[in-house]
Amino acid sequence: MATLKPLIEPKGYRLTDDGAKSNFDLPKGGERKEELEELRDRIEKQAQALSAEQRRALLVVLQGRDTAGKDGTIRKVFGDLNPAYCRVATFKRPTPLELRHDYLWRVHAVVPPAGVIGIFNRSHYEDVLVVRVHTLVPEKDWRLRYQHLNDFERRLSDCGVTILKFMLHISKEEQRERLEERLADPAKNWKFEVGDLKERAVWDDYTAAYEEMLERTSTIWAPWYVVPADKKSVRDYLVAEVVAETLEAMAPQFPAGDPEALAYRGKVE
Ligand code: AMP
Ligand code: MG
Repeated sequence: MATLKPLIEPKGYRLTDDGAKSNFDLPKGGERKEELEELRDRIEKQAQALSAEQRRALLVVLQGRDTAGKDGTIRKVFGDLNPAYCRVATFKRPTPLELRHDYLWRVHAVVPPAGVIGIFNRSHYEDVLVVRVHTLVPEKDWRLRYQHLNDFERRLSDCGVTILKFMLHISKEEQRERLEERLADPAKNWKFEVGDLKERAVWDDYTAAYEEMLERTSTIWAPWYVVPADKKSVRDYLVAEVVAETLEAMAPQFPAGDPEALAYRGKVE
């Protein structure tokens, strides 16, 4: 069993600064690179079978505040994977065309097809997070979305898409340090946006939005995992472990050879 457990019926779930720090007993404290490499090898092995089998898909949703480590998690957990096996979709502010469609239109279009591991860097959950915090649509409209999201994911799951949702949870102090780091390091300057400070100023509103999201949309078919993400190595380990175990439980199989084709064995001229 993976160290991190899914949220089941998380009524009244609270995101606290303490919850951003790991209190798990991880092998070598989750510090050793070899432990993560082992998990990555396990993921690669299953991903290859998933690709060959081409019957089912895995969707990994990554949500979190600015600097929570969405890009880092993708690099560390999936970065070594054969690119043929996975696909990353990044969700920015909707374009004018996307805004003319229903909000799930752009999401459905990038759900991984059978055989692929899809990774969402942000996701359809922005539509109950940033949209709620800044009232980009009226409350009566975004309130309907929890049910839409559950129904949407239920349909995907019924159609062979296994869904894992990770909320990368950082503390306010850790975010402050990471924002400062982006300003201090020329290689990271481009990642810093003034808008990030505006989002930070409404930290508590985001906390409330995340808490309600977790409470309303952690389902049996698409559970949320809250990842203590103040420490990057722990974050990577915990996510990789859930992904590896989920793929192993899916147990994708290499297709058997076609008997007619196999009859040529030893006879290929
Ligand atoms: P980044 O992840 O730093 O590249 O920033 C992407 C930005 O797009 C974030 O500020 C998100 O909140 C914003 N964004 C993503 N999806 C939506 C959405 N559906 N509506 C409004 N803003 C969004
Ligand atoms: Mg950003």
